[in-house]
Amino acid sequence: MRTDSRREGPIITLDGPAGSGKSSTAKAVAKRLGFRHLDSGALYRALTLGLLRSSVEEADWENLSEQGFTNLDINLETSENGFQVLIRGKAVDSELRTPEVTDRVSFVASLPASRQSILGLQRKAGEDGGLVADGRDMGTVVFPHAELKIYLIADLEERAMRRLREMGGDSPDDLGLAQQARALDTRDRSDSQRTISPLKKAEDAIELDTTELAFEEQVQAIADLAHQLTLL
Ligand code: C5P
Repeated sequence: MRTDSRREGPIITLDGPAGSGKSSTAKAVAKRLGFRHLDSGALYRALTLGLLRSSVEEADWENLSEQGFTNLDINLETSENGFQVLIRGKAVDSELRTPEVTDRVSFVASLPASRQSILGLQRKAGEDGGLVADGRDMGTVVFPHAELKIYLIADLEERAMRRLREMGGDSPDDLGLAQQARALDTRDRSDSQRTISPLKKAEDAIELDTTELAFEEQVQAIADLAHQLTLL
């Protein structure tokens, strides 16, 4: 890890499997440190939603060129604490988290042309530093020189439980829990086994197991690491 003197502030990356709490943790850490938050998963979700809204048949998605993905017109606009994702100039939020998008996003993210089409956008978001970026390849590919890299993990069952709670289920039953765990596991396998930018821990990342940690504790643990490295 090194300090990049061209930037005005450090970059902190949070990578890890689905449902490990990356986005909510990254958002809270960014708020605490006065940094911006970049949710890179939202960009892959936007590409997927853009495709669903387009006239391109699903069977042809894998043949699209980088230009084909660029034509979907996905963009980022700076917002108060981070970035708003836009499709054709219009803000998108909850539409990015529907089952139709979630079921297809890992496939779209496995296509080299789709990844290439949003690489510049992500790097531009980190141009001035002062960024907490979460995803699967933030520390390995997009920001290889980030000053602090965290790899968040948590037991599959705990991740499934957190995801169901996020979706509003207070006391999920065993069947719902097992289904959610299977869905997360399928997505993780696809994300870890793809050839381009697979989900993996960067060599210089610090692994943080959040299975036993409360949300506030994991936010604090990362803020403490940033302080220990005197990044602030
Ligand atoms: O983080 P989230 O679950 O919203 O990400 C959705 C999907 O986007 C992931 O399952 C993965 O396939 C893809 N993704 C990726 N690289 C990233 C972030 C997300 O491939 N940096």
